[in-house]
Amino acid sequence: MYDLIIIGGGPAGLTAGLYTARARLKVVLLEMLAPGGQVLTTDWVENYPGFPDGVSGFELMDKMKTQAEKFGLTIKNEEVTRLDLSGENKVVTTNKGTIETKAVLLTCGATWKKLGIDGEALLAGKGVSYCATCDGPFYTDQKVAVIGGGDTAVEEALFLTRFASHIYVVHRRDQLRAIKLLQERAMAAEKIEFLWDTVPLKIIGNDGVEGIELKNVKTGEIVQRDVQGVFIFIGTQPNTDIVKGQVDLDENGFIITNHHMETSLAGVFAAGDVRAKLFRQIATAVGEGAAASYSIERYLENLE
Ligand SMILES: Cc1cc2nc3c(=O)[nH]c(=O)nc-3n(C[C@H](O)[C@H](O)[C@H](O)COP(=O)(O)OP(=O)(O)OC[C@H]3O[C@@H](n4cnc5c(N)ncnc54)[C@H](O)[C@@H]3O)c2cc1C
Repeated sequence: MYDLIIIGGGPAGLTAGLYTARARLKVVLLEMLAPGGQVLTTDWVENYPGFPDGVSGFELMDKMKTQAEKFGLTIKNEEVTRLDLSGENKVVTTNKGTIETKAVLLTCGATWKKLGIDGEALLAGKGVSYCATCDGPFYTDQKVAVIGGGDTAVEEALFLTRFASHIYVVHRRDQLRAIKLLQERAMAAEKIEFLWDTVPLKIIGNDGVEGIELKNVKTGEIVQRDVQGVFIFIGTQPNTDIVKGQVDLDENGFIITNHHMETSLAGVFAAGDVRAKLFRQIATAVGEGAAASYSIERYLENLE
């Protein structure tokens, strides 16, 4: 019987793991991929405090993992497939077995939204990508399209200027949502061309991406651009299938908590991108992981 099972090893989970292992709780963190979460898919992080020159996504997460393990956090490579959260003891089923715990912290984050257009699924991994850091170097001297207009889309478009010969940034509005600093950098980048008021209709190709069909939402004009890669950054959706019907979710499927990171069920907490909130960043995930650990410790004390 564990005191706490943390589900997901991104910034929120690793921070909660650090705090709770250091507080000597009997805790295990379950992560289905490599610990690090979404940050592993970004090349460079400039807005996490303590790194004035920036830090690579990999280095930052490796440091968080090392620090948590130093204080005794056990991290297991397991995927949680089922949860039974209703009783005082919670039952967590993974691809490797079943574990019981007094408390559960959901830090299972979010994954990239799909466009849902023709060619996207067929060409995923064959020119359609959701990670510029992972796949950018494959497009050296080639043309690519980036779909989206937020911080991540613009950051990743800037990253792709290191490799690609030309980058179309396809955005459905006539201005970006990204912060001003990123906008200025993107506007100054010679390789980046903005296609405003434009949505993708179809990704063209069979064994690899050959082009993209686009529609101008104001004029209705449909055009085709020859590209070899399409990078999609249109936001995230929560990894909450395992808790559907058990804890309260908002209309988009994110977990509703109070300021103490408590969900609608006693002994079940949530932190990071999986929560219903406005701002999804490493710094906010880390802060919520720390806040959740405090609440969890108080909850466990009251059980005794
Ligand atoms: C390309 C990109 C660039 C970004 N750049 C920045 C940036 O520069 N600055 C910034 O502050 N933020 C940035 N972000 C956002 C930031 O990465 C997230 O806000 C942050 O990672 C959220 O942390 P988290 O711990 O809540 O969740 P996540 O990082 O999403 O981690 C969740 C973890 O849970 C695991 N998991 C999910 N379901 C299960 C399951 N059933 N069983 C076991 N494990 C499971 C996942 O594998 C994952 O590792 C970026 C995101 C992306 C994708």
